[in-house]
Amino acid sequence: AKQPVKVAVTGAAGQICYSLLFRIASGELLGPDQPVQLRLLEITPALKALDGVVMELDDCAYPLLDSVVTGDDPNVVFDGVNLAFLVGARPRSKGMERGDLLEANGAIFKPQGRALNDHAADDVKVLVTGNPANTNALIALSNAPDIPAERFNALTRLDHNRAAGQLAIKAGVAVSEVSQVTIWGNHSATQYPDIFNARIGGRSAAEVVDDQAWLESDFLPTVQKRGAAIIEARGASSAASAAKATIDHMHDWVLGTREGDWVSMAVPSDGSYGVAEGIVSSFACTTSGGAWSIVPGLEVNDFSRAKIDASVAELVEEREAVRSLGLV
Ligand code: NDP
Repeated sequence: AKQPVKVAVTGAAGQICYSLLFRIASGELLGPDQPVQLRLLEITPALKALDGVVMELDDCAYPLLDSVVTGDDPNVVFDGVNLAFLVGARPRSKGMERGDLLEANGAIFKPQGRALNDHAADDVKVLVTGNPANTNALIALSNAPDIPAERFNALTRLDHNRAAGQLAIKAGVAVSEVSQVTIWGNHSATQYPDIFNARIGGRSAAEVVDDQAWLESDFLPTVQKRGAAIIEARGASSAASAAKATIDHMHDWVLGTREGDWVSMAVPSDGSYGVAEGIVSSFACTTSGGAWSIVPGLEVNDFSRAKIDASVAELVEEREAVRSLGLV
């Protein structure tokens, strides 16, 4: 039998994890023959709620769930982990300035980066879902000097999946017909979902849709503001779709992307496409053998250029802000 893979998850008593943990334990992450050990981190006041989640995991009797460890100390919970999902973060509360938000998250992601550095397995892969995800990932990787920076990613797969879904609806096709969507930049309202390189049923998506007005005044704002629209409609933030996208990202990173397609991943920039080196920004990526690479040679027209530059400028500003706070 295979040895269990050790999977750390933070914010484990939260909404996203109420969906995420059950998907991981069921085999959706690593396949039907790979046992997992869940190592769950929470802040101290949430440990009781986490106990309740663990009771439910026990009650699911998942054949692939080897064991569950819980705790509030990242130095213990991250011991030996092969995969880490950093979901827990400090949400923006009313009246909170951006600097306060970055500082509050620095207090979370700095020690977690350090703890991963000191205790995770040599092959650890880290995916940040908790917002502001890109900059939280930058803080974590900056505090983990012994882990290669490329092992830290942030989530833009939900934006990617949302964009694919909207394209499919517009074209009146199944979402399986949509490929090569790209999210560029920050997981924020400045993100740029690019359809100029996307394909629908093998044809150029921009040609199939052929509607610049829809692109600018419908598609882009719908994808960019989808999170707020779901809160408005549901009375709670998107959780199941965020968990599903989190699984999709790590699944593809570990097991590889589909032939002839790519996915969107926020990764430390190597300067490709004029994106400032070192920031964690979203690109079209393929993966193979557990490593990602940025898809080269994509068309970037003037419209795309301006949108990418604006989102990258926001990430550079966030980096400056966390630099001045001594977090990176
Ligand atoms: P959720 O589980 O709903 O969200 C967790 C994080 O994911 C938030 O930062 C949220 O950002 C982010 N996120 C990213 N994409 C999405 C998306 N599409 N939709 C919704 N959220 C998204 O939050 P809860 O408040 O339910 O749970 C958070 C848990 O984390 C709590 O149990 C808390 O105790 C815990 N926590 C744990 C820490 C730790 O383990 N050390 C540290 C801090 C918190 P946004 O706020 O912008 O929606």
